[in-house]
Amino acid sequence: MRYVDRIPDPPGQAALAGTFAHLVLEHLLQEDPANRSTERAKVLAREHWPEIENDEGFIELGLTDDEARHFRWIAWKAIEGLWTLENPQGVVVEATEQLIDADVGGVPFRGIVDRLDREPDGLVVSDYKSGKAPRPRYVDAKLSQVLLYAAAIGEQIGIRPKRARLLYLGQRTIETDVTDSAVETVVGELADTWSAMTTSCETETFAASTGPLCGWCPYADQCDEGQAEIKSRLEQGRIRLDAPALELIGAVSMAAAG
Ligand code: SF4
Repeated sequence: MRYVDRIPDPPGQAALAGTFAHLVLEHLLQEDPANRSTERAKVLAREHWPEIENDEGFIELGLTDDEARHFRWIAWKAIEGLWTLENPQGVVVEATEQLIDADVGGVPFRGIVDRLDREPDGLVVSDYKSGKAPRPRYVDAKLSQVLLYAAAIGEQIGIRPKRARLLYLGQRTIETDVTDSAVETVVGELADTWSAMTTSCETETFAASTGPLCGWCPYADQCDEGQAEIKSRLEQGRIRLDAPALELIGAVSMAAAG
């Protein structure tokens, strides 16, 4: 719906706070190592705040002054959370916000890598995350993204990073070695996904993929399968009652009655 039909999905507060944290950290890590302090991060946050404040998505949120203050606090917690993971003064930065445009396993791959670090044994891909760190069973799926970035950087500059890392700000770092077999696995999955997407586009058939996240899907009111999933979960008490899609599909009264 977002990419094929191009139905807008305005970023919510959490996503925008994450964008702001990324912006500040990007600029902080471009500073000389000795300057990468929390004090400097505060100055950068003040300097770059207008970019978010004037963002269409932020304006659409229509936050009150108190809510905007809370938004800034959430973003600051994410920014400050970098220091719980590493000392930024000790990071040797090769690039920030590195654009990637490469062919990975026959698939055109584009993206932006938050940070490429240089460590004694080679390059490391690092990606900031302001959301909740995954439970152990979802870690591999989350690492696929940075492994693909590593594969794409390898294609683009001819040097494949040694490790790929997710920095869950304020929580923990998840890291993996970029081995031949790990790359082969994720690139194979990418090629399979690309092939399935190409078939879907050619046949204009897009199967719904229902699950617990339907409750948080901004398109739930336009998706019959998703609505059926949400209602079934509601009947079984398997959905949080604050899931936004409940209101979107008019199931709030059902929830209240239940
Ligand atoms: S409601 Fe569920 S199945 Fe439908 S588009 Fe959203 S996430 Fe996919």
